[in-house]
Amino acid sequence: MIEVESKIASNFINGDWYHADSSETQPVYNPATLEKITEVAYSGEAETKRAIEGAQTAFKEWSTMPARKRSRILYKAHQLLLNDVDRLAHILTMEQGKPLKEAKGEIKSAASFVLWYAEEANRMYGEWIPASQKGKRQLVIPHPVGVVGAITPWNFPASMITRKVAPALAAGCTVVLKPAPETPLSAMEIVKIFVKAGLPKGVLNLVTGDAKEIGNALLTNHNVRLITFTGSTEVGKHLMRESANHVKKLSLELGGHAPIIIFDDADLDLAVKLSLASKFRNAGQTCICANRLYVHESVKERFTEKLIEQVKQLKVGQGTRDDVDVGPLINEQAVDKVKGHLHDAVEKGAKLVYGGDSQNTSDLNGHFYHPTVVQGTTSEMRVMNEETFGPLLPIQTFKEDKEAIDAANDTNYGLAAYVFTDSLERSYQVMEQLEYGIVGINDVFPAVAEAPFGGIKESGIGKEGGHHGLHEFVEQKFVSIGSK
Ligand code: NAP
Repeated sequence: MIEVESKIASNFINGDWYHADSSETQPVYNPATLEKITEVAYSGEAETKRAIEGAQTAFKEWSTMPARKRSRILYKAHQLLLNDVDRLAHILTMEQGKPLKEAKGEIKSAASFVLWYAEEANRMYGEWIPASQKGKRQLVIPHPVGVVGAITPWNFPASMITRKVAPALAAGCTVVLKPAPETPLSAMEIVKIFVKAGLPKGVLNLVTGDAKEIGNALLTNHNVRLITFTGSTEVGKHLMRESANHVKKLSLELGGHAPIIIFDDADLDLAVKLSLASKFRNAGQTCICANRLYVHESVKERFTEKLIEQVKQLKVGQGTRDDVDVGPLINEQAVDKVKGHLHDAVEKGAKLVYGGDSQNTSDLNGHFYHPTVVQGTTSEMRVMNEETFGPLLPIQTFKEDKEAIDAANDTNYGLAAYVFTDSLERSYQVMEQLEYGIVGINDVFPAVAEAPFGGIKESGIGKEGGHHGLHEFVEQKFVSIGSK
């Protein structure tokens, strides 16, 4: 059991913790029990401005510190995260709802980004370009972009923060972080760990409160040189429009609508196991989770039968219980969205094959919805076009490869897509034709620290993870030196 004070000073500005200037607060609830956990600061423009000033002042020292020294602080933070996995996972489950085993996995994943960028901090190389004119010297020098405004969502409240903060710090940037209001406690814990690891004051700041005011303060301040955002495409577009006034750099990890294509030559047991994991992990609230399944008509029956068998085994309940596989959704609107997508699909002719409203767990108090499967969906249905962000799995059949690939690409999103096949030739063909930033072949877990993660089309701009993730926080300065 984690003890939490009833009111927390959740703003971390220039090295100290503060309540909101107005003393206003916002509640944080446990989505599995609907109990209030605590209240955190509801802040706005003034607090954000001070955080930016702190970050701007700290930038001078932090950006010129030897990379090795910055790297050592990140290594220490990585170790501290790993030493504290159990406690951090409990806090995460309490405010976000996901099962403890997933929360532990997320903390380890969050730590892996810190480790990766502790290493990358030492490899922020420049270039020496051979000149075309005699005597000239041409250099490209990498520079940290400056103060970074980082805005994060609630669905991965730890790893979405370290995936931004770790490369920013490694590059020599300073940060003002605004976490989601549903999950400020995980954000606070991560900040405390970086501070304990030796981060100087002002380098990492945290402001909780009014998204529009905080966002606006970041967007209108000339000293904030980059906005890194993970969240919905709608908010991403707003940030993009408003960033134009100062021509800020942007890194946007936005919504997705991932298809899974299961070909007739696929290993069906593997396809079932991984489709299930992709769809129902985090109760379906994952940007890269399967939103829609296309199954070849010749294997549809066998696949669906095996899948339903497995879905029936999933235990829904409070994430703190060891035997639970699927926790609550984040709030009531999230449950209503899943119901809306299901009712729309059934009204338009899809068949409910498992789950649905009647399966709902009335013995639980939180925002729960039972894993649900529908068959016979068509492209007109909302579930095949809009991000469901919940445990509803629609299955559609196809005959020809082209039909499945065209359907998969028929969306404005372009984050992740998955394919199950045992054919190497087909893997190449499909991989090249899918219009997505990430393609998984017989794999649904592509989010790793060492590789670039990010969408195309309306799923975003830029990459997180890998050496690519560091470059988002780096400007290249070209220096041309003549000789007499
Ligand atoms: P969201 O509503 O866009 O919110 C994300 C963050 O933006 C929250 O902290 C939110 O704060 C803040 N925000 C909202 N309006 C803002 C504004 N005008 N100015 C500044 N900040 C603002 O998204 P969400 O519901 O938290 O997260 C789910 C979405 O994130 C899904 O679409 C999912 O696909 C996407 N996601 C993408 C990735 C990826 O890597 N591509 C990863 C995870 C999630 P308030 O809540 O206080 O408004």
